[in-house]
Amino acid sequence: MDSLSMWEATAGERKQRPTLQGDRHCDVVVIGAGYTGLSTAYHLQEKGHKTVVLEKYHVGFGASGRNGGELLTGFQGTMESWVAKKGMETAKAMWQMSLDSIDITEHIIKEHGIDCDFVRNGDIRPAFKLSHLDKFKREQEYMAKVFDFHELNVLDKDEMKSEVNTSFYHGARTNERGAHFHPLKFARGLADLAEERGAIIYEHSEALKIERKGKVVVTTEKGRVLADEVVIVTNAYAGNLNKTIKGSVVPVESIMIATEPLTEELMKEMIPNNRAASDSKNLLYYFRRTRDNRMAFGGSGRAFSKRDQLRLFDTLQDGMVEVFPQLKGAKVEFRWGGKVGFTQEMLPYIGHLEDGTHFAFGYCGRGAAMAVMAGKILAGTITHSDDVINPLRKEKLRPIPFHSQHAKAVGIMKFYKTFQDKYGS
Ligand SMILES: Cc1cc2nc3c(=O)[nH]c(=O)nc-3n(C[C@H](O)[C@H](O)[C@H](O)COP(=O)(O)OP(=O)(O)OC[C@H]3O[C@@H](n4cnc5c(N)ncnc54)[C@H](O)[C@@H]3O)c2cc1C
Repeated sequence: MDSLSMWEATAGERKQRPTLQGDRHCDVVVIGAGYTGLSTAYHLQEKGHKTVVLEKYHVGFGASGRNGGELLTGFQGTMESWVAKKGMETAKAMWQMSLDSIDITEHIIKEHGIDCDFVRNGDIRPAFKLSHLDKFKREQEYMAKVFDFHELNVLDKDEMKSEVNTSFYHGARTNERGAHFHPLKFARGLADLAEERGAIIYEHSEALKIERKGKVVVTTEKGRVLADEVVIVTNAYAGNLNKTIKGSVVPVESIMIATEPLTEELMKEMIPNNRAASDSKNLLYYFRRTRDNRMAFGGSGRAFSKRDQLRLFDTLQDGMVEVFPQLKGAKVEFRWGGKVGFTQEMLPYIGHLEDGTHFAFGYCGRGAAMAVMAGKILAGTITHSDDVINPLRKEKLRPIPFHSQHAKAVGIMKFYKTFQDKYGS
């Protein structure tokens, strides 16, 4: 899954950053240079807190440099289901947080002119089954009535073709708030901004050990960072640094392919309004146009062997051609994958452990904007800002029982979901 991603190939030259050597003192040490860590650093520096970021490989190595770049509102499941689980007040705050997360990301991009191909044309959720269209209509009514949100629109099969030109789906639901960007260019742009504000980012500097000796001491192979606070934001790439955090996140593989650059006419014919698409299948497909007119197409990627992995990419390509027969014969130039962090509650967890370690992870495939928001919340919590609203606060992390068996469990779950896609209603 570590083959060159299309994002890496099209993001320009990678800036090299130093490896930590010797001792370094700061206010906050952040572990992980994905969107969460970089946003935390950016917002901490805004408040005058000296921040050091440690990254095992390089900026955007994890999901933040590999994802579909689709900025979507909401969470896994409908807001109606979250009202039932969390109550009206919390669910409304969660919804507002998801709207704000895209606005904040857009604001950072525009205020600082981050060159990351940001397009805010809304998103679309094509209906894999006819019954899903009924669910969309119910959701549209519910969101208008209860959440006073009027930007969802449900399209029948014919109307959908002016948005996603395919016969594969039964209709769709659009949402005017969605957006898409080049994920790795955004990660790199955010890293540069954090540095401009005074943060120091060390690459190839894996945090190996954390001790508390009055100060927090984080040890890497060649150095140490001594800080007042520590933030662990390694998400689905968590190693053994903190067993409670590792045991609370379930990494799930997702894979993507990208075609060669195609003609503008063909791209406009397939996705005329350049929205970000993710469908309603259990094992969903997500797809979008890129700035250089490629089709970027993603799906589920759990593989048990190298051969299995190659087969998954071929199956995904077959899926892309099934959705867009126009792409039969189009060359696929890139195939890559990454790990998506899930939690037991299917919601992001943001909070701190009993020893004071701050964390945020588990965006369940919706982290492109939410991780930026989580970083802002972590920075606000650390600096005791009085404007922190965190409906996703996790008071106590409880590692998932039999966590080490999760790989098998996820494999079984995917088998079940594929079955549901084929035979369920
Ligand atoms: C293929 C794919 C497609 C996706 N598509 C979408 C999408 O379209 N829309 C959406 O909203 N979300 C999507 N996601 C999810 C989204 O990318 C993530 O939610 C988000 O990037 C999480 O950011 P993060 O900073 O929390 O974690 P990451 O970006 O994964 O960063 C964690 C970092 O921690 C580092 N690290 C780990 N251990 C250590 C250590 N001990 N010391 C130092 N560093 C360490 C890792 O190297 C990594 O760089 C997708 C994910 C994948 C994999």
